[in-house]
Amino acid sequence: MKKAILLLLLANYCIYAIAQSDQQKAEALLKKMTLEEKVGQMTQVTFAVIAKDGWGDTEGNIDPAALKKAIIDHHVGSILNVNAHAFTVDKWNSIIKQIQDESKNSRLKIPVIYGLDGMHGQTYTLNSTLFPHNLAMAATRNTSFAIRAAKVTAKELRASGVRWNFAPVLDIGRQPLWSRFPETYGEDVYIAKTMGAAAVKAYEEDGLKNTTAVASCLKHYLGYSGPRTGKDRTPAYIPDIELREYYLPSFREAVKAGASSVMVNSGEINGVPVHASKYLLTDLLRKELGFQGMIVTDWEDIKRLYERHNVASSPREAVAMAINAGIDMSMVPTDFTFYDLLIEAVKKGEVPMSRIDDAVKRILVLKFKVGLFDNPYPEANAKSNFGKPEYQTLALDAAHESMTLLKNENKVLPLSKTGKVLVAGPSAQSISALNGCWSYTWQGRDDQWYPSDSKTIYQAIADKLGAGNVTTTTGKGFDNKMNYDAGALTAAAANVDAIILCLGENAYAESPGNTRELALPDDQLVLAKAAAATGKPIILVLTEGRPRFITSIEPSMKGILMAYWSGKKTAEAIADVLFGDYNPDGRLPFSYPKSIGEIVLYDRKPTEEVREVFNDNVKGGYDPLFAFGHGLSYTTFEYGDIKLNSSTLTGNAKLTVSISVKNTGSRDGKHSVELYTRDMYASITPSMKRLRAFQKIDLKAGETKTVTFSLDKNDLAFVNAQLKQVTEAGDFEIMIGDKKAKFEYK
Ligand code: BGC
Repeated sequence: MKKAILLLLLANYCIYAIAQSDQQKAEALLKKMTLEEKVGQMTQVTFAVIAKDGWGDTEGNIDPAALKKAIIDHHVGSILNVNAHAFTVDKWNSIIKQIQDESKNSRLKIPVIYGLDGMHGQTYTLNSTLFPHNLAMAATRNTSFAIRAAKVTAKELRASGVRWNFAPVLDIGRQPLWSRFPETYGEDVYIAKTMGAAAVKAYEEDGLKNTTAVASCLKHYLGYSGPRTGKDRTPAYIPDIELREYYLPSFREAVKAGASSVMVNSGEINGVPVHASKYLLTDLLRKELGFQGMIVTDWEDIKRLYERHNVASSPREAVAMAINAGIDMSMVPTDFTFYDLLIEAVKKGEVPMSRIDDAVKRILVLKFKVGLFDNPYPEANAKSNFGKPEYQTLALDAAHESMTLLKNENKVLPLSKTGKVLVAGPSAQSISALNGCWSYTWQGRDDQWYPSDSKTIYQAIADKLGAGNVTTTTGKGFDNKMNYDAGALTAAAANVDAIILCLGENAYAESPGNTRELALPDDQLVLAKAAAATGKPIILVLTEGRPRFITSIEPSMKGILMAYWSGKKTAEAIADVLFGDYNPDGRLPFSYPKSIGEIVLYDRKPTEEVREVFNDNVKGGYDPLFAFGHGLSYTTFEYGDIKLNSSTLTGNAKLTVSISVKNTGSRDGKHSVELYTRDMYASITPSMKRLRAFQKIDLKAGETKTVTFSLDKNDLAFVNAQLKQVTEAGDFEIMIGDKKAKFEYK
């Protein structure tokens, strides 16, 4: 025991010593730097700036003169992105090598840090492993997938020579119109903070000098996901109390988990662009949350303080405003204006040198931390970590657990493997509609860049049943005209036992994903109605990044499977669930609304249920089509009574909550046991339900297990009128499945 403690102390000391020396090295280097060299470090440009053919370049060829202009003439410290194209691991390695070769020609030989968006696997390397997007990850209720997927992503980035990942997205998905909803962990704060912090740890915990780790980047701090109109990068109006209760906790936890960098929200909150907010960047993030790492802007966002937000009256004022607010690095990213303007601003005394030194020190510390000064080149031993066969198994396991069975009328599912089926709808033969954004390209729309063994839903089903038993009226690609031919669907349905109708959304990211409508597009509804008219059982498979309303067609669907954008193995996972080779266990990470006028989230306030005079016979309150946490199985689970170790929780003590869960059906199955609490009375109207814990268990048919949770006062806390996190004395209710128990907090 003593030995273990000593070793632990020694290990801690070593970590401290390394951290110390990175700081010291950064400080020493900083002392040698000119203003120009410092400001260059704070400048990040996109690959097109150094590419031979600018934006037209799809081959990854660097223009040596442009590279020299960036690194030698402007001392550029960081490069990001590619054009709409993925490269091989070898191509990436040669790109990084060429960049670092040039950095060696600079006076101080400061290496460049390259950053890429590996949001659900490494986006821009051909044949990288793509996992479920965060929304689908949240549906698994299995944090180990968030961890294991992050570790693979780190290895595949590092194999590509890149040590900085612009992930995870920690925005909370409380506005389903928002085009980046699929990148969030859904509407719940607890899931987002748990999985988000776990992902951060997984990216970084091996130590950033190790070839299995990358620096993470928490984004997009703060409140990006709450635009009032749902359009990307448009204003949010979020009172501080809401900001702290819902939007801040995922960042707070991820900072505690040791994140190395943060990317800032491109939008504005209450009229203040976040890039210009000293309160949010310095007072809240740095001082209150204690964030020590580096803060980078999002795309062009300093310029936009002048050009879009109109809070700065000149480009230079915009630069000074952002840097003084607390920005360390500017994703400029297409020119050197930031570099010129910041030098000017410093010379004119508009930005103090102390702020520049602080920013540059943080950038240098990150570069030391990720080992770039030891070896800036792609690491020879990193390459062998790329594309291992077990990553495919992990991608399939995660996709399986994300599948969420929303409806199964008369046990229509699983379908028999000996029947004949028609596979119809636009996502039947689309790969991009299964993977979504950030898949080999930013928009993820081009099926051509996906690995050649990627399957469509049609292929995965044909592989299972034999091609002779599967017909389709679709052609390749989501937008293929054939896919929308309702007449062909009707004719083909005559000879089948069931119709598998694959609807939803093709891939999109950011503003190209803006929508004015959440209902499924008319041409898809027409298909659903034609299918319904055939009288054949229809199984609706949804591959989509946000809840597209299906209220008008839902009654005609016998089965509904929500497949999200679940990555490389989405099609296989869908086929396995539809034909009974996998017993589904996903749970919805958001409330699936019926209509735009009834978007109420599960953690609603009591008065959100009020519909005083509303004479349309519609049930009031929380009445989504499918509730948050909904998800069916092919087996059944029964809960015993909730057992508490005490009916009172005092001070800082812990409350032990246990419950037995029995698999009462005839199939083995996994099940997420979810613990919610309700604060019965509080000084701020309490939520009717808040998820406080979940545990996923695996139960054989007939098996019973006891699940135990431990709660303390922090799990029950809320933000009060003084913006303090508090737990007030009083009565609480615990809800697990259909069981309830009460306790008092004193
Ligand atoms: C996105 C970020 C991303 C950045 C770099 C921006 O448009 O908002 O999430 O990290 O581009 O690709």
